[in-house]
Amino acid sequence: MPYRSPWMTPELDSFRDAVRRFIDTEISPHQAVWKEQQHVDRSLWNKAGDMGMLLADIPEHYGGSGGNFAHQCVVFEELASAGDSAFGIHVHAIVAQYLHNQGTPAQKEKYLPMLASGAMVAAIAMSEPGAGSDLKGIRTTAILEPDGGSYVLNGSKIFISNGYLADLVVVVCKTDPDAGAKGISLLLLETRECPGFRVGRILEKIGQKGQDTCELFFDDVRVPAENILGGIEGKGFVQLMTELPYERTILGVGGVAAIERALRLTIEHTRQRKAFGQALIEMQNTRFILAEIKTEATIARTFIDRCIVDTLEGRMDAELASMAKYWISDLQCKVIDQCLQLFGGYGYMLEYPIAQMYIDARVQKIYGGANEVMKEIIARSL
Ligand SMILES: Cc1cc2nc3c(=O)[nH]c(=O)nc-3n(C[C@H](O)[C@H](O)[C@H](O)COP(=O)(O)OP(=O)(O)OC[C@H]3O[C@@H](n4cnc5c(N)ncnc54)[C@H](O)[C@@H]3O)c2cc1C
Repeated sequence: MPYRSPWMTPELDSFRDAVRRFIDTEISPHQAVWKEQQHVDRSLWNKAGDMGMLLADIPEHYGGSGGNFAHQCVVFEELASAGDSAFGIHVHAIVAQYLHNQGTPAQKEKYLPMLASGAMVAAIAMSEPGAGSDLKGIRTTAILEPDGGSYVLNGSKIFISNGYLADLVVVVCKTDPDAGAKGISLLLLETRECPGFRVGRILEKIGQKGQDTCELFFDDVRVPAENILGGIEGKGFVQLMTELPYERTILGVGGVAAIERALRLTIEHTRQRKAFGQALIEMQNTRFILAEIKTEATIARTFIDRCIVDTLEGRMDAELASMAKYWISDLQCKVIDQCLQLFGGYGYMLEYPIAQMYIDARVQKIYGGANEVMKEIIARSL
């Protein structure tokens, strides 16, 4: 009997079908154009909003689809399964979680409906040229003006996903530069008609070329005081530590779907391709490699399903999320490399999806916290 994830339901099956149809018509055919222009079409965000997949795990009261984490996982799985690497919906969904879990009632009412409909595109800006893994070292500051009406934001960010299209950026900044981690806050920056805010060039990456990854610059940008996430200064570091497990878990969710896709594509190819008078899959080495990958894919699926269930039941923790992020992304890169080898020269050609998967996967070990940082987090629990 084929394995079925314990969190899947008939209702999620229907949702998955609808998401798959949307991807087939609105996402897959446009990848080449998006790669060329280095970002998706702005209209994709509105269409995805109409379809109900942007904030699938946010209550209807805030414009979301009223589902749970499983609904959002279905979206991430289907995108990975289709080989999409352009649509920055992951970051958008992450920002929605920050707002929903950490925002004031007014912040939730104001922003979540616009994120759900695609009227606003979201980004989160943590990394800076001088500080990525070590976020306590950021230098972007937001200093409250003496009258208390607004913050003055100065600094810059790098590698920001959705940076070119974002209308709302959660900026990690220091509201008290002398207070260490306790001086960090998250500021909600509306980017349209915002004097002093500038988007730098879209960065040239080795993969995920359809996604707009940018530098952002803030030069005396005035942000209303009520835009501190949660309404209180100095909570930013704790807010980050609380929300980062969501980001790390969803990287694992996409990673497992990518591993499963690589296995599917490689079984198909090695069945068709012949050498030395037989199909590649009839050679013992091929069968052994694919048997190993199938075993590892099964272990990864079982593990991520446990993570999804733990998240649904509210008991996901930082250690488990770090394990999912580091172990699955390592496995994803290893498996895709092994699969590419079985494609021979065709595996090196971009018209073969396995080649695209190879270059798109590499960053999984870096962003969302480098895998070495994940091991530090896990080691703290030893
Ligand atoms: C395509 C892409 C999209 C991104 N999107 C975003 C985004 O939307 N928002 C955002 O804020 N950032 C984003 N990032 C940034 C990403 O999160 C950082 O690149 C990452 O956290 C690593 O930081 P860094 O690049 O400064 O590397 P560094 O901090 O300089 O680390 C370099 C390397 O040093 C090693 N290292 C670091 N710390 C340790 C440690 N404690 N122990 C052992 N080894 C260590 C690791 O091997 C690490 O890879 C993105 C990056 C990329 C490439």
